[in-house]
Amino acid sequence: MTAKGEGTKANGKVFLVGAGPGDPGLLTLRAAELLASAELVATDALVSPDIVALVPPTAEIVYVGKRSGAHSVPQNETNRLLIDEAKRGKRVVRLKGGDPFVFGRGGEEAEELAAAGVEFEIVPGISSSIAGPAYAGIPVTHRAHATSLTLVTGHEADETTGVDWAALARMHGTLVFLMGIANLPVIARKLRENGVPGSRPVAVISKATTMQQRTVTGTLDNIEQRAAGIPTPALIVVGGVVGLRETINWFESKPLFGKRIVVTRAREQASDLKRMLEEAGAEVVQFPMIEIAPPPSFESLDRVINAIGDYQWLIFTSSNGVDSFFDRLRHHSKDARCLSGAMIAAVGDSTAADLRARGIEPDLVPQKFISTALLPLLEEDQHGIRTAVVRAAQGRDDLIDELRRRGGEVELAIAYETKRVTIAAADLHDIDIVTFTSASTVDNFFEVLPDAKVFDGAMLASIGPTTSDAIRKHGRKPDIEASNATIAALVAAILDACRAKTPS
Ligand code: SAH
Repeated sequence: MTAKGEGTKANGKVFLVGAGPGDPGLLTLRAAELLASAELVATDALVSPDIVALVPPTAEIVYVGKRSGAHSVPQNETNRLLIDEAKRGKRVVRLKGGDPFVFGRGGEEAEELAAAGVEFEIVPGISSSIAGPAYAGIPVTHRAHATSLTLVTGHEADETTGVDWAALARMHGTLVFLMGIANLPVIARKLRENGVPGSRPVAVISKATTMQQRTVTGTLDNIEQRAAGIPTPALIVVGGVVGLRETINWFESKPLFGKRIVVTRAREQASDLKRMLEEAGAEVVQFPMIEIAPPPSFESLDRVINAIGDYQWLIFTSSNGVDSFFDRLRHHSKDARCLSGAMIAAVGDSTAADLRARGIEPDLVPQKFISTALLPLLEEDQHGIRTAVVRAAQGRDDLIDELRRRGGEVELAIAYETKRVTIAAADLHDIDIVTFTSASTVDNFFEVLPDAKVFDGAMLASIGPTTSDAIRKHGRKPDIEASNATIAALVAAILDACRAKTPS
């Protein structure tokens, strides 16, 4: 028999990977890399869906972890699965909340793998025991308040476990209890019985680092009462450092914290808006109305590209148009140099930015971000002028019609198509704000959700006048309107509206 054992393929391996405390941004680079190359991912049920979404569709995902109250896979079955799949030659990622070796049974799993002769690696993660307090504005150590940090299981806080309460009570550092919520009364009592003053500050941090984070503070005497009913998972922090939250609380105090905001933009375009809203503390619910697809035919775009030298003006009305146009240029083995003879107009700051990113400074960017805003800036007499308008199959023809009326020759180059997306409405509850970034999205939205009852209490936020008009057309009023049609202005308007609603 070989050292690797019969039938063991050389490259099978198990990675015990920490997924961090919840916020997908706290995943390590190594973890993300391994998830992207995994063949099988065995994950705790509590790991964030945003993190599980990094697993490629080709990999199998198995939920093995504990979920309190719900059915869970017994530990020995999990171990068996890891060993068997690795022996079949698979790259197996065992994904665990926080850090795998902090109360995560990672040690036990590693021992089993070692005993079975399976190769493994440990990828530490950011533990909730440290990140949770950090997101609550509580430094676990501080020169003035705590010189030590002790992590304690609160699981079975009775006499039968090995927790040395007398020793804990003597420490003047910070105590963090994991798995302790059910035993919070026992923990508080034991510490007091062993000499800790009832006035010692305590914080309970629930669903730390997620958009549902909630922190309750108090003292050993009153925390049980104050934290009653707080959702799990939760941590208990005991010590003087808890008081620093008053100054350092940065996460739960973000301007949009606790707000659920719907983004109706196509996923391909939603990233800036999503990121900016999330940075301001909002929970973003993606509800894309449309997706960007190639046009039914490239005929008109190809015609323009092949005769590009004949056009005096090229007008781009969206960054999708810019992207598709340049993709198609490349398809024809051409590049930006073939545009040197034409003047270029861009409608919208992001369209202009997209052109600049490709080394092209647009000659004309109207102040208002609607295509008809170009009209006063273009020649009144269009005779002898050839213009190509690069845009979606669906779009408004006002600009084209008017240029033709002025005697111009206008070609519509259809660069992409916007398609309706079928949607799952499960996340559409407790919505505070719905954002709209185009009139067509508004139309689609009210068509898909004719009564839109879920949004009765929600504010509707619009990127500009055209979008606002569309909202009015459907009998609703735009509560928030951006001062110019950019994502940044939309987010700024939302922040203003929320500040106005909740005076601090
Ligand atoms: N290995 C994990 C801990 C697993 S034990 C880590 O390093 O974070 C599970 C306990 O961790 C829970 O009972 C709770 O006390 C704590 N916990 C995990 N995630 C948490 C979160 N997002 N917010 C608060 N507590 C959390």
